[in-house]
Amino acid sequence: MTAVTWLTVWALAVTPAPRAPLDSLYRPAAERLIGAALSSDHAMLRLSQLCDGIGHRLSGSPELDRAIAWAAQAMREDGLEKVRLQPAMVPHWVRGEEHAEMVEPGPQQLSILGLGRSVGTTAGGITAEVVVVESFAELDSLPADAVRGRMVLFDVPFTRYGETVRYRSQGANRAAARGAVAALVRSVGPVSLRTPHTGAMGGYVDSLPQIPAAAVTLEDASMIHRLLKRGQRVRVHLEMGARTLPDTLSHNVIGEIRGWQKPDEVVVVGGHIDSWDVGRGAQDDGGGVVISMEALRLIRQLGLRPRRTLRCVLWTNEENGTRGAQAYAESLGALVGKHVAAVESDGGVERPVGFEFGALRIGTDSTDAPRVAQAVARAKEIGRLLAGLGADRIADSGGDADIGPLMRKGVLGVAHRTTGEHYFDWHHTPADTPDKVDPIELRKNVAALAVMVFVLADMPEPLVPPPGAAAAAAAAAMRPAAARR
Ligand SMILES: [Zn+2]
Repeated sequence: MTAVTWLTVWALAVTPAPRAPLDSLYRPAAERLIGAALSSDHAMLRLSQLCDGIGHRLSGSPELDRAIAWAAQAMREDGLEKVRLQPAMVPHWVRGEEHAEMVEPGPQQLSILGLGRSVGTTAGGITAEVVVVESFAELDSLPADAVRGRMVLFDVPFTRYGETVRYRSQGANRAAARGAVAALVRSVGPVSLRTPHTGAMGGYVDSLPQIPAAAVTLEDASMIHRLLKRGQRVRVHLEMGARTLPDTLSHNVIGEIRGWQKPDEVVVVGGHIDSWDVGRGAQDDGGGVVISMEALRLIRQLGLRPRRTLRCVLWTNEENGTRGAQAYAESLGALVGKHVAAVESDGGVERPVGFEFGALRIGTDSTDAPRVAQAVARAKEIGRLLAGLGADRIADSGGDADIGPLMRKGVLGVAHRTTGEHYFDWHHTPADTPDKVDPIELRKNVAALAVMVFVLADMPEPLVPPPGAAAAAAAAAMRPAAARR
């Protein structure tokens, strides 16, 4: 051979083969999964079993225990492997009887829902004059005697959930700090048919009195606000039987398809099995639960065993503690280093639009931008498989409550995203029922999720190195050159 020929052979040997784009590698499998998902009503059947058959599922309730047993049984019927319950001690808050009435001018019943974690009122309730504010700054600017002994109504219109929800989280403590006897919070939602929205408030601060807090409807909040603006005195009678009982035992439900080549590497997918104690937890998060289960059922049914282990985790207690998510992350120990991605569906099951990817610097909440960029660039190839479903938007800023503890340990987080057009109209209300779920959109969500998690679990190399590999590489780079030889 001439020198030139030798050079060519050498160049071919050391240049890595061009990596096949994921969409060309996985087009046939994706088409089979999408076809199976779009032609099956099984997810809707399961949603009805869960939401209509069992009901809402607050931590500590017998319904949550029944839902957990139902999900484990369903996973066994689907042929998942290592189906198991993972214990987690969860808060046990109970609502009790509650009602509110405007007594001056009045009388008029108000439609309320006590906030999760709130204390109740004393027996017989509280009657007090109402003061309305539109922000914490306005509350803090009021003279002391305008707040002391009164109920504070936070009438703050919904902008974005993450922004407006702070009035639900901090309202009671901020009102208590000014001497108020109760906090009423305009429901954190964009529209209302006189549907109050419950949800957890932040914990009480030790240095402040614990005052009861409840959500009122948009209609009632506006009415009270209008009356006060006209100079009318408003008094409300509030009675709440809420109590916090000792923590109680609950469980995450886990089942998996064992990887054929790298069984110790894991892709997690799931939603939360608990819900608020009103409505039926259909969009939040019955939908996320059933599409996660359905993704694994279809992958198994089609005989598509992935390279890595694909694990469905249905977290308990997302709504008022996220103890299930903490228990799962803590149970892993060093095995977290083998988690290549954690996918969560907890934004409802309206029309799917895609997935958001997020990575954190280990032990922090700060974004690891280079890892996110690397993941997003590659995941766009998976997105192309979802274009026919309209679910091909691949973006950064991914993250959600139940994958948070894993992300803080360095696992790539992936949030399933839908249009979310009406999600906050229903979420945490008596109206979150299965009729809000469009059966065809539900099938599309199954299809998009099944393709995403199958490719993540099967692709030859993960989107980004899992935390263990990243830590090993960092450690190797730190070692002195002599030690490396
Ligand atoms: Zn949720």
